[in-house]
Amino acid sequence: MAHHDLIIKNADICTMDANMTRIQHGYVVVDGETITSVNEGSVPAGVEADTVIDAEGQVLFPGFIDTHTHIFQSFLKGLGADHHLIEWLNRSALPYGKYMTPYQHRLAAQLTCMEAIKSGCTTLCEFFYTDQDPELADGCIAGMEDTGIRSVFIRTFQDCGEDYGMPACFIQPADKAMEEVSRLRHDYADRSDMLSIWTGPDVTWSTTKEGYRTMLDYCKSENVRYAMHIDETEVDDDMCQKHYGQDIIPMLDDMGFLTDHMLGVHCVNLTPDEMTV
Ligand SMILES: [Zn+2]
Repeated sequence: MAHHDLIIKNADICTMDANMTRIQHGYVVVDGETITSVNEGSVPAGVEADTVIDAEGQVLFPGFIDTHTHIFQSFLKGLGADHHLIEWLNRSALPYGKYMTPYQHRLAAQLTCMEAIKSGCTTLCEFFYTDQDPELADGCIAGMEDTGIRSVFIRTFQDCGEDYGMPACFIQPADKAMEEVSRLRHDYADRSDMLSIWTGPDVTWSTTKEGYRTMLDYCKSENVRYAMHIDETEVDDDMCQKHYGQDIIPMLDDMGFLTDHMLGVHCVNLTPDEMTV
C-alpha cells in the first residue's frame, strides 16, 4: 500500500507542462512540498494519503503569478476611480503614499497577499515606489512574508519627476537607490526562492538617462533583475519624446535596457513593430 501526504482526486487538471497537457479526470499526489505524480483516472485501491481532497467539478492548475502590483494602493480601491492615470496618481495615490507608515505598509501587504492567495496566486511581484524610507520597504516585506506567499520585491527608484507631480520624498539619486537595493539583498538573502529582490526605474518621466545607466551597470555587475512601467499610456511616449526625442521603446533599446533580465509591465500601447524588438 502506498501512503502519501496529500492526494487531490477527481480533478480537471491543467498541467501547464510544455505540451499544455490537460487531464480531464485525474489526481495529483503530494509528499512534503513536492508534487510527486500527476495521474489520469481514479485513485487506485491501496493508494492513500493523510489528506484527500475531492476536487470533483473543479479545475486544478499551478499557482498564478501576479507580475505587477502596488501593495500600498490596496487601501485606495475606488478612490478617484473616475480619473485618468496621471490625474489619479497626482490626486490620490501619490499624496496618500507620502503618509503611509511602516505598519500600514505591513497591513496593506497582508491584505494584498491574502487576496492574491484567495484568487489562486502563489507568487506576487510588488513594484514598490512610495517614499523610499528603508523602514517602509521592511514593513511591506514583513507583510508579504506573514502570509507565506512567494514574492518578488521590486525596489524601484525615481531620480527626477517633481515637474510631473512626483513627491520630493519619492526621489533620490540612482546610486543611493542601488545602495538600498544592496541593503535589501543582503538583509533578505536567506529567503531561498520565497523572496527575491529586484529593482527598476518607476516610469520614464521620473528617470534620467544617468539613472537608467547607473541601474543597468548595477544590475549587470550584480546579476539583478529589474522591471519598469512601459507604455502604460500614450503619455509615456509623449514625455519621452519631449525629454529625449525618441519614443520609449527605441530609447530603451538603444540603452541596452531590453534584456532577458527585464520585466516590462503594462506595455499596452506598444506598436506591432515595438513588440518585435
Ligand atoms: Zn504599476
